[in-house]
Amino acid sequence: MQSLDSVIANVKNLPSLPTVALKIIQEIKNDTVSNNALAEIISYDPALTAKILKIANSSFYALSNGVESIDRAVQVLGQEALKNIALSFVIVKGLKRNNIDNFDHGLFWKRSITAAVSAEMLTTRLNRKREDTFVIPLLMDIGVLVMYLSSPQEYLKVFDDKRVAGFTTVEAERAVFGYDHQELGSSILRKWKIPDNICLPIAFHHSPAESPADIRDLAEILQLADLASSVYHSDKSNEKIAELKVMLKEKMDKRDDEVSQFIDRIAEKTIEVLGSFEIDPGDMKPYSEILEEANAELGKMNLSYEQLVMQLKQEKSKVESLATDLKNANEKLRGLAFEDGLTGLFNRRYFQEHFEREISRVDRYSHLLSLIMMDIDHFKKINDTYGHQQGDIVLQLVANVLNDSIRRPDIAARYGGEEFALILPETDLKWALVLAERIRKFIEELEIKIDDQVLKVTISLGITSYDPAKGRKKKEEIIEAADSALYNSKNTGRNKLSIAQ
Ligand code: GH3
Ligand code: MG
Ligand code: MG
Repeated sequence: MQSLDSVIANVKNLPSLPTVALKIIQEIKNDTVSNNALAEIISYDPALTAKILKIANSSFYALSNGVESIDRAVQVLGQEALKNIALSFVIVKGLKRNNIDNFDHGLFWKRSITAAVSAEMLTTRLNRKREDTFVIPLLMDIGVLVMYLSSPQEYLKVFDDKRVAGFTTVEAERAVFGYDHQELGSSILRKWKIPDNICLPIAFHHSPAESPADIRDLAEILQLADLASSVYHSDKSNEKIAELKVMLKEKMDKRDDEVSQFIDRIAEKTIEVLGSFEIDPGDMKPYSEILEEANAELGKMNLSYEQLVMQLKQEKSKVESLATDLKNANEKLRGLAFEDGLTGLFNRRYFQEHFEREISRVDRYSHLLSLIMMDIDHFKKINDTYGHQQGDIVLQLVANVLNDSIRRPDIAARYGGEEFALILPETDLKWALVLAERIRKFIEELEIKIDDQVLKVTISLGITSYDPAKGRKKKEEIIEAADSALYNSKNTGRNKLSIAQ
């Protein structure tokens, strides 16, 4: 592990301080410098002069009269304050980088400046304002910058340890480097000949309890300032704000709403000061605004969530009714394909297909089936006497009788004009005869009322049974057998049943 000194000696990316900064630092130590001499040093750097005048005239210092020159700034702000402001500018300018690596330099300085503004505001509020309360928090994390610039890979591990293992920054740095950014930052600043009033408290800004008693209060302010900065620049704002409010309430002895106002003011002032440092504040805004926006966003989300649920419900029922429609349409199509339009019985096509399936099933499992073929007797006469429409009604009535007579696995089909067929699986000849006779009798007894007349109708039937055990038969042969039996009934008097040979 490298010693702090060798780390500092080996930092390649850390520039030496600009000459103006060095001169200001010298003057800071020189208590007897005249106002004119300080103004002269600052005026060497026109950009610095402009920045100082800008900040002197900002709401940050809330000076009543305009400050047009550095001379005037020295008079109004005082030597010490001006020295520290100047120091802040030159150091930030000297260390500020563009984001060429993985380190977010903009964020680093935004954090530092937010902490500086917070500390300044807090000490003002507590009547404990010191001339250096801006510059100390501004520089307190400089150790982080140096550690990252000298060992980027290791410092990324610090970020990981923080995120994954839940370490604090200081714990993670000690684990990876053996020292932390408090000590390192403090040492670097001392090397730069920055006075002790700045360097010393920086060494304790995360651990005020360990600090010497005379700087403990300042170390506590720094810790608070760091927390306030985290509220605005950390991804854990929610946790940080709760912590900050508790600590501020205790420190400032103020009501909740006053504390919240104070936290809002930190953002307002910081945004202004960031401008002076030529750092983009990004979307930084008062915490209450962040909250409002979050709540509005949440409200929008809830609304859209409800809308989403509503939409989903609508879509679901739409899909469901579509599915029902589709099912019905399919059934209808299937029905149209297999149903006889007049009687509602299965049509001839379905009879053929279904009978084929039944025969192969019977063949496979050595079951048996029976087939009854029927034909209405002298139907032509009915048509001729009562008309085609009445004939249709007779066909429908006969179909209903068939439908009502059969069990679930049986199939009743309209085989032709006035010809019907019953497929009876698992039914032997005896049972088929019983059923056939029942149907014949039922139809014979039907009283079909047309106007004032009663129409009587009879049917002839032919019955066959198929038992593959007694020899296999083809579909056509079985139908032929039943048909022959039917014609035997026709030929031997009608209104009767015949069994196939
Ligand atoms: P059989 O006792 O010998 O069977 O005599 P039949 O008159 O019943 O037989 P035939 O085959 O000579 O006549 C059948 C008649 O059925 C002829 C045809 O016009 C009629 N027919 C066929 N389909 C329909 C129909 O859908 N509706 C009506 N009303 N009549 C039909
Ligand atoms: Mg007939
Ligand atoms: Mg016929």
